[in-house]
Amino acid sequence: MKTLGHVMDQVIKRNPNEPEFHQAVREVLESLEPVAERKPQWVDAGIFERIVEPERQILFRVPWVDDSGKVQVNRGFRIQFNSAIGPYKGGLRLHPSVNASILKFLGFEQIFKNSLTGLPIGGGKGGSDFDPKGKSDGEVMRFCQSFMTELSKHIGADTDVPAGDIGTGAREIGYMYGQYKRLRNEFTGVLTGKGLQWGGSLVRTEATGYGLCYFMDEALKAKGKSFKDATVVISGSGNVAIYATQKVYQLGGKVVALSDSNGYIYDADGIKLDTVQRIKEVERKRIIEYVKYHPNAVYTEGCAGIWTIPCDIALPCATQNELDETAAKTLIANGCYAVGEGANMPSTAEAVSVFLANKVIFGPAKAANAGGVATSALEMSQNSMRYSWTFEEVDEKLKDIMTNIYTAASEAASAYGDADNLVMGANIAGFLKVAEAMYAQGVAY
Ligand code: NDP
Repeated sequence: MKTLGHVMDQVIKRNPNEPEFHQAVREVLESLEPVAERKPQWVDAGIFERIVEPERQILFRVPWVDDSGKVQVNRGFRIQFNSAIGPYKGGLRLHPSVNASILKFLGFEQIFKNSLTGLPIGGGKGGSDFDPKGKSDGEVMRFCQSFMTELSKHIGADTDVPAGDIGTGAREIGYMYGQYKRLRNEFTGVLTGKGLQWGGSLVRTEATGYGLCYFMDEALKAKGKSFKDATVVISGSGNVAIYATQKVYQLGGKVVALSDSNGYIYDADGIKLDTVQRIKEVERKRIIEYVKYHPNAVYTEGCAGIWTIPCDIALPCATQNELDETAAKTLIANGCYAVGEGANMPSTAEAVSVFLANKVIFGPAKAANAGGVATSALEMSQNSMRYSWTFEEVDEKLKDIMTNIYTAASEAASAYGDADNLVMGANIAGFLKVAEAMYAQGVAY
């Protein structure tokens, strides 16, 4: 990196032992080199140094009592990364792997993703190393209440509006919202992903998976392809994976594999989504259960092998760095021509290079999975208006937003000399709006 290398060096020095954060920043800074060359005034104003430093990081203790009466202690985080174009907005991840590096990478990515939606939302992310898996409803509730008791001091409908992410679904958002309301005595849109009876938006549950398919549909169309009759492999079996599967079927494709962190299922006849939804959304069990209902399907232990299944389109929808260079090469060797990232940063940097070098139609996460946060912003609008749009109205807006994101990323890629490179296009298109806002708002002394 010619102009921005020193910014990267400083990030590494100031944030040691944070590989995921370094990875996310490096990718963005590499894409922004041509912008830095065209905008020396932004270099002089320290825009690049400022954008890689969170505005605020909150770290707190989360004590709660388990079912046996024992006190447990987890760690809570909220990274308020950038508020140049709106209140901080981004999900809360509950997973034992959660640490500062992962939340900073997610918060950083969120800045550009939120900007790409065209809606007025800044970037943030939070969560805890609490693992909801295997916990009773009572334990999850007590954890969420303790977590929100501290978090409530730092968020608000015009300040910071968290949402769901891995491990934080409708149940957790409900417990957290209830506690916020008790503490503050106000009914506001402080969280998104709420239940439909208490301020939630139609389509929010489906939005990330649907939006991913709308985005990829545009990218495929541009190259004379579509989901029709395509064989699709999707990793994960959570919120994003389930609704991506549903939309792939609606668009005429066939999903043949899904996974969880234990292993993957392959059903050559096409995955039966109602079975997966019952196992995952109702019973909260493991994906291996699927083969009990569909003996023709095959279960394989270990989730990484899912990328060895031949497919036309791959949609990684589980977690970061789940698809490496070897997996990328295997996918291509087996005929895969398009990859859309439903999860955040699911492909390693090496895998992304392989996709770009081989002209795979590649939808990077911050563009392709922006449908979730876009619909969260639509939920905020409805809360402010105290009004609800119909499913069709929200779905139409989501489709328009995803089409606009594709156009913005594709046009920026061409304008900066690397047509079809949607990684670079998305980074630049997302960055420009935030940088202009930061520049206009000046530096605080
Ligand atoms: P869920 O918790 O609903 O599902 C996550 C899925 O991924 C589960 O099947 C889970 O399996 C699997 N998974 C999680 N961690 C790992 C791991 N370390 N290794 C292998 N598999 C794993 O989360 P979501 O579907 O909401 O989120 C999935 C991804 O999409 C994340 O990267 C998230 O940040 C991103 N995303 C989500 C949005 C949303 O609206 N929900 C919006 C934008 C991005 P298991 O049950 O075994 O843990």
